Amino acid sequence: ASSVDEAQTTSDKGVENVVIIGSGPAGYTAAIYAARANLKPVVFEGYQVGGVPGGQLMTTTEVENFPGFPEGITGPDLMDRMRRQAERWGAELFQEDVEYIDVKNRPFTVKSSEHKGMLVTVVKLCHSLVLVHSTRQTMDGELEPADDVKCHSIVFATGATAKRLRLPREDEFWSRGISACAICDGASPLFKGQVLSVVGGGDTATEEALYLTKYARHVHLLVRRDQLRASKAMQDRYLISDIGIFWTVVIVISVGTWNYMVDYRECFRVFNNPNITVHFNTETVDIVSNMKGQMSGILVRKVDTGEESVLEAKGLFYGIGHSPNSQLLEGQVELESSGYVKVEEGTAKTSVQGVFAAGDVQDHEWRQAVTAAGSGCIAALSVERYLVNND
Ligand code: FAD
Repeated sequence: ASSVDEAQTTSDKGVENVVIIGSGPAGYTAAIYAARANLKPVVFEGYQVGGVPGGQLMTTTEVENFPGFPEGITGPDLMDRMRRQAERWGAELFQEDVEYIDVKNRPFTVKSSEHKGMLVTVVKLCHSLVLVHSTRQTMDGELEPADDVKCHSIVFATGATAKRLRLPREDEFWSRGISACAICDGASPLFKGQVLSVVGGGDTATEEALYLTKYARHVHLLVRRDQLRASKAMQDRYLISDIGIFWTVVIVISVGTWNYMVDYRECFRVFNNPNITVHFNTETVDIVSNMKGQMSGILVRKVDTGEESVLEAKGLFYGIGHSPNSQLLEGQVELESSGYVKVEEGTAKTSVQGVFAAGDVQDHEWRQAVTAAGSGCIAALSVERYLVNND
């Protein structure tokens, strides 16, 4: 504690120790740790998801795999608990989107917009009645106009957004038949033992399809193109899970020559998992419901013939990828070609000292609440260490 106190007492007046951007599990966990370390973190929660803080889990119902909740917990409840825990330890939370950051000059600059959502408009109207407007509570309790924030370090935890197909009935069935996360939702009562579909032709989709076979009666993989973009390793996993390692080795050796004669797609079909049917040249058009308004199928269209049909399915999983919310960092820190923030392996360190990244914005592989929270913890502890070392 004494080293942190040192870091704090020597920080310039008006320059925050750390700004945390994002209010998902990564951002709030970083806030809890930073606040408990007495760093008085300033958190910009954003308002992108549904007009409320909390990140992706605000869009889901049951979270069954976050440790400590044997009966499960709803996404919003879990996020509310994290938020309150961060507040309890003294994190300052602002429901604002960050619009600009500058990490090329020190101290860093973070510029936010005030929340323009309906709720805040109402709150602001109420405020204006008592002649308080456009104000922000500062660390020492004074009120001042919303302005740039200067800081010594930043934790970037802005998450990622699952890409959507924008089907006509997508909003109606989101979380009621449509999901973007097989690991999160595959075992839920809504999907267990049902015929399910996955849309997409890359590694994400094939992974989701493979995962869902553990719970589903059957899985349809809907691929718009005439072949999969999934990596060879992924296709081999289907093979191995289907026929075992011995036969895999035998077939792979023979297929080495065979591959010259048939294309990849044919190869995949031969090795296909019996619980997965791959539909090539198939476009997902919309959701079909039964008389009770429940999802009962998917309207699909053959790309080559235009022929439409309904495929029976109680669930549709999007495996078309995620977009990391890293636009703010473009040109400021190193990003992967896919847009994910590049961090030094096993750490939260970005290419700029003092800027740390946590959660889905730097993780294209695991994308779970608990891994996001874990990386938020690493980021906050790294901030603490950084501030002490750069005092
Ligand atoms: P996010 O949760 O995405 O939060 C990012 C935050 O950053 C948001 O609050 C956003 O508003 C904010 N933000 C973005 N840009 C800005 C900006 N410019 N300024 C300020 N703030 C900004 N995982 C599980 O482990 N179990 C589950 O059951 C589960 N179910 C899921 C169900 C659904 C429908 C979805 C979509 C995901 C699910 N996940 C689940 C995955 C899990 O939600 C994510 O892995 C996790 O939320 C990632 O946390 P994060 O903190 O990195 O980012």
